[in-house]
Amino acid sequence: METCIFCKIVKGEIPSSKVYEDNEFLAFLDIGPIHKGHTLLIPKEHHEDLFTMPDNLLELMSGILKKVGAAVMKGTKADGINVGMNNKPAAGQIVFHAHYHIIPRFKGDGLRHWPQGKYENPEEMQKYSDIIKQNL
Ligand code: 5GP
Ligand code: ZN
Repeated sequence: METCIFCKIVKGEIPSSKVYEDNEFLAFLDIGPIHKGHTLLIPKEHHEDLFTMPDNLLELMSGILKKVGAAVMKGTKADGINVGMNNKPAAGQIVFHAHYHIIPRFKGDGLRHWPQGKYENPEEMQKYSDIIKQNL
């Protein structure tokens, strides 16, 4: 897509620090890393988010995610990695070309996960599992 920044990276119109490339996928360093080595994995083809990705491409991408994720962890000597994907503006998506974040994590690095809430009662929890199931 013409105006998409990640499509421009794929075409080489914008420079990037590539860590992996094949016919379908590209992985490169995030310009604003949570920790150094924070990597983005994208399909070369433009798809807006998780929901517009064809199933077969998504399946292929998980294999690459595992491979690049392992390399990020080993290369940065991280103790773990977070894998994340922001979908839609409400979830913090800024670049509308589907991408996984691969974030190296270190013991005691102080990064906190999201705060956890709680359900009012077991019925409310059941209600949420029901409404999700009804939409599968
Ligand atoms: P999201 O859409 O998941 O919120 O995040 C987009 C990510 O892309 C951000 O973490 C941001 O730092 C990264 N990003 C945005 N523009 C560029 C760019 O031009 N080059 C690189 N390497 N990363 C970018
Ligand atoms: Zn794009």
